[in-house]
Amino acid sequence: MFIDSHAHLTVPSVVDHVEEILQRAQQKNVKAIVNICIDPSSLEKGIHLAERHNWIFNAAATTPHDVEKEGELFFPTVEKNAHEGKLMAIGETGLDYHYQHSPIFSQKAYLIRYFALAVAAKLPIIFHCRDAFKDLFELSDHHYQGRPAVLHCFTGTLEEAKECLERGWIISLSGIITFKKSALLREIAAYVPLDRLFIETDTPYLAPQSRRGKSNEPSYIDETARAIAEAKGISIEEVARVTAKNASQFFSFPKRILSV
Ligand SMILES: [Zn+2]
Repeated sequence: MFIDSHAHLTVPSVVDHVEEILQRAQQKNVKAIVNICIDPSSLEKGIHLAERHNWIFNAAATTPHDVEKEGELFFPTVEKNAHEGKLMAIGETGLDYHYQHSPIFSQKAYLIRYFALAVAAKLPIIFHCRDAFKDLFELSDHHYQGRPAVLHCFTGTLEEAKECLERGWIISLSGIITFKKSALLREIAAYVPLDRLFIETDTPYLAPQSRRGKSNEPSYIDETARAIAEAKGISIEEVARVTAKNASQFFSFPKRILSV
């Protein structure tokens, strides 16, 4: 069984085909998917999707790319849904200094607001972090110390992975680990204890090596699991089972998810 800890099922290019995509995921034994909602439209559709499929769960936040333009508009909706129990996590939120589509001060300001919301609503956080670990650690240590978080699509260094683990966080690995050039990421996969790992597709982005350039979907998750299994020298079944258990606990999924 797999849990896809990060997929964008209700963004425009995916949502029109979502029923077929979910069918293919079920055929691959994907037991739950965390749908990451990034704006009012994807959240509204995500809530309807979760009503139709009780194995789809939602998280929401404006991404660090878009906080400057859309952060203010979306925040009250995220807040309301978080307090109404319709979200399993706050995210993806964080810092992206690689692209800097939004100014750094504004990325930081929203991250701090989302920290406060996650604490108030008692929800874990899904981080997006690119070339910004120093500031992420500093802000988290001030505003979010000792609280649960996952580093989605981790692409940092081994040192940064260690710093995440020291803070009690989870490392989530995506299809990037299957790319030929990702030797460092496979080294990190070998290092991080299995009980601190998630697997994600980041659908529709980052399709694994054998489907590169195509639109990604949760049914491709096994290729990433296989790469982690090979890096660790264990079976793909064990990777799937333990990472599913990790995600199920972290997101407080109902017990039925792992029992079927
Ligand atoms: Zn994402």
